[in-house]
Amino acid sequence: MAIDVIGLTAERAAALLRGRACTAEELAQAYLDRIAAVDGEIHSYLHVDPERTLAAAREQDAAGVDGLAGVPIAYKDLLSTRGVPTTAGSRILKGFVPIEDADVVRWGNEAGLVSLGKTNLDEFAMGSSTEHSAYGPTRNPWDPTRVPGGSSGGSAAVVAAGCAPWALGTDTGGSIRQPAAFCGLVGLMPTYGSVSRFGVVAFACSLEQVGPMTLTVRDAALLQQVIARDTDRDATCTGPRAPIEVPEPGRLDGITFGVPRVELEAGVEEGVRARFDESLAIAESLGARLVDVDLPYARHGLAAYYVIAPAEASANLSRFDGVRYGLRVDAPDVRAMYEATRDAGFGAEVKRRIMIGTYALSAGYHDAYYVQAQRVRTLIRRDFDAAFGDVDAILLPTAPSVAFPIGARLDDPLAMYANDIFTLPVNLAGIPALSVPNGLSEGLPTGLQIIGPAHSENLLLRLGAAFEAEHAFDPVPPGLRSAA
Ligand code: GLN
Repeated sequence: MAIDVIGLTAERAAALLRGRACTAEELAQAYLDRIAAVDGEIHSYLHVDPERTLAAAREQDAAGVDGLAGVPIAYKDLLSTRGVPTTAGSRILKGFVPIEDADVVRWGNEAGLVSLGKTNLDEFAMGSSTEHSAYGPTRNPWDPTRVPGGSSGGSAAVVAAGCAPWALGTDTGGSIRQPAAFCGLVGLMPTYGSVSRFGVVAFACSLEQVGPMTLTVRDAALLQQVIARDTDRDATCTGPRAPIEVPEPGRLDGITFGVPRVELEAGVEEGVRARFDESLAIAESLGARLVDVDLPYARHGLAAYYVIAPAEASANLSRFDGVRYGLRVDAPDVRAMYEATRDAGFGAEVKRRIMIGTYALSAGYHDAYYVQAQRVRTLIRRDFDAAFGDVDAILLPTAPSVAFPIGARLDDPLAMYANDIFTLPVNLAGIPALSVPNGLSEGLPTGLQIIGPAHSENLLLRLGAAFEAEHAFDPVPPGLRSAA
């Protein structure tokens, strides 16, 4: 049968497979055809290996397809994949082939998911637009002149373009939620410590988690069921506190949402603000109560994040020295080899972060910057703790703007950093947040961010499903609908 993969959810794909409407091999082939047709323009994949994908699909067919087995998936190229190149979007890891799978990939394989390939990202996940990839930018399927967001922009673009039913991304300061919002998708940033970071190329270990990027809230729940597990290979991971449930949309009676009105004054685009206000009205119409909350320290999240994340990055990236992984530039002595390798291997944004982080951790400035930022982090966490004494969840736009034009913020790092103003505080607090499509502004998707206390994933998914049902948003970009 001819399979139309545009807008096909993973849940529906599983139903097709289980109903014998197609084989896993036919489904994988349909996605590979779609990738061949459009990814030249979108550039969302860094690595596709059709033979390997088809072989994995045939294995699932032979085993007898059950559950999610045979459903394709795409992985952000920050996740290690055994025997498959893993670049982290960096020149320094060009040609690096891991000897082990990341835990989340291993569990994907165990569930029978079939990998379509590795997706583009900002180098080492540092960025908000996927323009910092050493392999060139990804384009937004809603408007190819615009960025898909970042750093998981490739994972967002593959799903929006019908080049995978779902994908995994990582979120250190917004990198799942913001690209999901820019591309009209659902993105879940799980509670810190509920998903294994084993095999995730490290950027800032105390902030990042792997999470789903999907067409629907139900798909996000299904993928979270696969990846949220205890592991003995990441000492910070305990798995979820309760099994993840696949939600049904419903009313919101008894739910109290906190709305941080002051934060919203901070340069939110008019259209984004209008869509957000409409969602507040939807919440009330479904029976929820809205109250103002004050997060006085959250507005310092940007400053604290851009000390803590670069500090951790400067330590994590010291392992790329031309000896252990990837690129080596030969030089007369070992010190010159380190320098030449790192100079040629890292892009400008990564070098900027290494310098900021090294400076913030240096003996003379450690207390003034790093320790101070950690204190602010604690205060932000307490802000959220206090708020969750009164409310079930907090609502904010995911990003203050819609997807911006490619190149628009490339020369202004602070403008690029400012895009994460609503997402960064959540990572600093270690709590989960879900971004769901929130209607269009200027013809481009906006996102509604629902933030909850630690281990409130089931609540967030239930709330997200309620908004999703009211919005009845079509996640297929208009330009692709006619092609369908
Ligand atoms: N945009 C933020 C940064 O550049 C967050 C990136 C991320 O979440 N990986 O650090």
